[in-house]
Amino acid sequence: MTGGRAPALVLKAGREKSLLRRHPWVFSGAVEHADARAQAGDTVAVRTGAGAFLAWAAYSPQSQIRARVWSWDEGERIDERFFDGRVRAATARRARLARAGNALRLVHGEADALPGVVCDRYGEVAVCQFSSAGAERWREAIVDAVLAETGCRSAYERSDLDVRALEGLAPRSGVLRGEPTGASVEIVEHGLKYRVDVAHGQKTGFYLDQRANRDRVRALAADRDVLNCFCYTGGFTLNALAGGARSALSIDSSAAALGLARENAALNRLDDGRAEWVEADVFGALRTLRGEGRSFDLVVLDPPKFAPTAGHAERAARAYKDINLLALKLLRAPGVLVTFSCSGGVSPELFQKIVAGAAADAGVEAAVVERLQADTDHPVTLSFPEGEYLKGLVLEKR
Ligand code: SAH
Repeated sequence: MTGGRAPALVLKAGREKSLLRRHPWVFSGAVEHADARAQAGDTVAVRTGAGAFLAWAAYSPQSQIRARVWSWDEGERIDERFFDGRVRAATARRARLARAGNALRLVHGEADALPGVVCDRYGEVAVCQFSSAGAERWREAIVDAVLAETGCRSAYERSDLDVRALEGLAPRSGVLRGEPTGASVEIVEHGLKYRVDVAHGQKTGFYLDQRANRDRVRALAADRDVLNCFCYTGGFTLNALAGGARSALSIDSSAAALGLARENAALNRLDDGRAEWVEADVFGALRTLRGEGRSFDLVVLDPPKFAPTAGHAERAARAYKDINLLALKLLRAPGVLVTFSCSGGVSPELFQKIVAGAAADAGVEAAVVERLQADTDHPVTLSFPEGEYLKGLVLEKR
């Protein structure tokens, strides 16, 4: 593809600033005009009004994020070999990280210079998500590269995310390559085994971003009565039990997740009577526990994304405050609250303010003893701070 022939996306005067800092998104408001030949997913040359080359990017005519950058190098060709190189770089980056088992995020979108692409490895199965028009266009090349680079035997697609609708893409999931895997794959993480349902589980099947934080909770759990809210398939619970918790009460609204959580406990011989699993809405369940006069030494709150964007921040703030307030009341003193937000629309500063508000309203004195984030296979590039979504606080109730 040569610069002269590729369709161009021309920016309004002055709107090239963020690209010059290597932020990989072009918003619709920054676009002066787009070449009429450009179709969804096509590679366009992003240019200043004066014609200077800025980047090669994937065109998304239906999205507010009108283009996502593939490369800043004008000499680069965006073809199968390009994607092979990007996947190889992402895989090599992971190979330099400490290993904690056989499951990891191989490709983390913008942070691996592959916007719209997520790929998680569960043992010998790669699970891919394509969430933008550009990622969709190069789907086959990316899957081929992932299998070639990892030696995985099969690949499954979980492109069933809501954001695809913003790109004019329908949801899609199913086997991409190799044998259908059946429902579940067994993985090992920090010595614990989990069954991951890659076909029907949430996201790609497992929350790999919490790996290090689960391990952290293991270290905090000895001899404690633990409450794990939003437990999904039992991650924090299994770690608490493995860490010597006296008891662990786990709550989730998903019966399927709880079923797998129980299986996971059994798989690790942690089904020794210390665990109690409750299918309920956490907001109501915390009130019920309070009504029953229950209390705990360690509470984990890992709710789903309440605020996908900053626009939802206010409603999300109320929800975060509510559960954190209830959790702080259920905690004994001294006790530990491990509380998370995975909402991109809530900054770490705002999250701490919300939790501080909850503590004030609960009449509780607490101190931050640790700040948590996503594990190292979910990096945040400095040019794309929006990539930071998961933050956590370890609080000591005094
Ligand atoms: N901590 C987990 C991941 C949690 S994901 C891990 O380490 O694997 C969030 C979970 O919250 C999901 O399992 C979802 O089913 C559950 N959930 C969402 N809304 C809920 C609600 N209102 N009450 C209870 N569970 C809820």
